[in-house]
Amino acid sequence: MTRQKFVAGNWKMNGSLQANAALLQAICRALATDPPVCRVAVAVPAPYLAQARQLLEGSVVELGAQDVSRHEQGAYTGEVSAAMLGDFAVRHCLVGHSERRQYHGETDAVVAAKAQRLLAHGITPIVCVGETLAEREAAQTQAVVARQLGAVLDQVGADAERIIVAYEPVWAIGTGRTASPQEAQQVHAGVRAQLAAVSALAAQVPVLYGGSMNAGNAAELLAQPDIDGGLIGGAALKAPDFLKIISAARIQ
Ligand code: PEP
Repeated sequence: MTRQKFVAGNWKMNGSLQANAALLQAICRALATDPPVCRVAVAVPAPYLAQARQLLEGSVVELGAQDVSRHEQGAYTGEVSAAMLGDFAVRHCLVGHSERRQYHGETDAVVAAKAQRLLAHGITPIVCVGETLAEREAAQTQAVVARQLGAVLDQVGADAERIIVAYEPVWAIGTGRTASPQEAQQVHAGVRAQLAAVSALAAQVPVLYGGSMNAGNAAELLAQPDIDGGLIGGAALKAPDFLKIISAARIQ
């Protein structure tokens, strides 16, 4: 079975009403004339979900969010629930991004609870996993990734087939340093095997690569057999760069 490629932009804490409109209009206009063969999504900051939803109406670009509360509702000041994301027709939401793990102390258990909460609301969790430089140097990459993914798989059970995984080596995020296609493929193959151990359908979930993917290196990364797309940070903020990555998914 050929898996359709998936390219998602993670805007992180960037944007403004004006900048978002310019960016999304440029992306939507280009994709309307030259439809992508891959799925395309953007994960926008929560306050801009309503704006992005409106701008994306009628476009192939899917709406995503960057984080969700692990709680259903109640006295959790500042949090955004999965139900609220659902109100804005959000289709995907990142969980376990390394910036959340690193700066907000999110544990594997918290990430797993968030993934489950999203699934309960019909939203696809994009589960981010990846090792730090120190872990890579200590030859812990596969073990760390397997532990992080395993926590989610244990929690969601048969719903594993409804998730998306993003392998994002922490040392490659926002640094301009990318895993080589071979390094990334090796980890992706391990992720695929872990998913395959759950079920044949889980083995088919998209496994994205993230970490300084850009217009110049996307084609080679996306050509790897187990790399099903990209999670793009910096390069997703410039329409021409994001569009080039989307085009790179076409030529595989
Ligand atoms: C990310 O934040 O998920 C990411 C991959 O960032 P960048 O592309 O900027 O490395």
